[in-house]
Amino acid sequence: MTMTSRSESDEHPAFLAAAGDVRWTGSKTEMWRKLSVRALRAEGNRWVWFILPEGVIVECQAPEPGRKMVRFWWEPAEPGPGSRFRAACERILTHFSIVGQWELVDQGAGAAPDGREGCLFAWFQQRFGLHDIEARCEECGSIILKDERAPRQLCVRCAPKAAEKPQEELAL
Ligand SMILES: [Zn+2]
Repeated sequence: MTMTSRSESDEHPAFLAAAGDVRWTGSKTEMWRKLSVRALRAEGNRWVWFILPEGVIVECQAPEPGRKMVRFWWEPAEPGPGSRFRAACERILTHFSIVGQWELVDQGAGAAPDGREGCLFAWFQQRFGLHDIEARCEECGSIILKDERAPRQLCVRCAPKAAEKPQEELAL
């Protein structure tokens, strides 16, 4: 009796070998939101990543508030500029809603975050602007995650103070 009977699948071996919490099968837009939030919350500007069923790893880092880095990893099947890998990366980037543009800062080969050696990478950075899921606190200007349902964008320090003094907030 077979323990597993995986039906015909084009899932990459690296995807199948990865831990469940880094595999991503949903929409790329939703992946970007999750990656962005994880990167913003990561200790010490750590890179965070997901692997797609086709084996591409998408890594994200938030080196400073309002700016993101994205690094894609793939097996060294197609080196060289203008490769299909680079085109695939740029197609994936179109799903990542940002203010501003992505620019390629580096490409080469190295050890992927899942430990595979000699993988190609393409590294992009956000040219300028705040990411669309971020906002500035209307009181102190610090970077926060945007809450679309909230009447005002306030950080955790300013929100309680604003709630205490609604009259003062309205005074000119
Ligand atoms: Zn604030």
